[in-house]
Amino acid sequence: MINKGLLTPEKDPMGNAIADYARHHKAGRLRVFSSQFDEDEIPVRKLFRTEKQMPPLEKRALQLATGKILDVGAGSGCHSLALQEAGKEVHAIDISQLSVKVMHLRGVVHATQANLFDERFCGSYDTILMLMNGSGIIGKTENMPVFFRKLKQILAPTGCVYMDSSDLRYLFEEEDGSLAIDLSGSYYGEIDFQMQYKDILGDSFDWLYIDFQSLSYYASENGFQAELVQEGCHYDYLARLSIKS
Ligand code: SAH
Repeated sequence: MINKGLLTPEKDPMGNAIADYARHHKAGRLRVFSSQFDEDEIPVRKLFRTEKQMPPLEKRALQLATGKILDVGAGSGCHSLALQEAGKEVHAIDISQLSVKVMHLRGVVHATQANLFDERFCGSYDTILMLMNGSGIIGKTENMPVFFRKLKQILAPTGCVYMDSSDLRYLFEEEDGSLAIDLSGSYYGEIDFQMQYKDILGDSFDWLYIDFQSLSYYASENGFQAELVQEGCHYDYLARLSIKS
């Protein structure tokens, strides 16, 4: 089942890290656990990157965004702020109460606590941005129909989505170039994560990394088309999704 809920501060490690960094210009360790990988960390300062510090795929998405823009899972508001500075109209949403508070403090004019998949969330947007492995919030490939149905509801007829993701294939590549992937198992980009910041431990959640070919397949199965806008330097890419013409 896709997650349609919101995050309150007691259950929101990333939101607390973002709030600390906004207040003190530093934060503790934002730890990331997964049953599939070793423990990792998200450098909190990266969540506050300026346009200059952004990877090329994100810069490209910002340049391409036009009209009424929705920044989904906006975090600290780094993309929304850059778009506002460029004189564009942007609406930011995030499930994290703390992140939305930080966005207001940082000057994001339209920032709302909302879950993309909540039926009550509606609107009509010319550009929808899903950045920093934006496919993540889809959670699992089985949620693709729900995701595309939602997009159909909130995209203007000629609108499009810019979403970035990575193909995790490189994690399963053997030295001879073959892939050690169990094809009878679940899709190799379906990852479970859990985060911790100080003593705040979040619930475990599903996060989807998807290769472009699979994304194109699900898009066309659900009345959309996917185009490859740009490839990044490490198995990552920016895709454009639009309603099939
Ligand atoms: N886009 C930001 C933050 C990425 S982290 C950046 O590039 O820095 C992903 C963000 O998505 C988190 O802030 C999380 O709270 C938010 N999020 C997760 N699921 C969501 C959903 N279903 N609807 C809206 N926001 C969501």
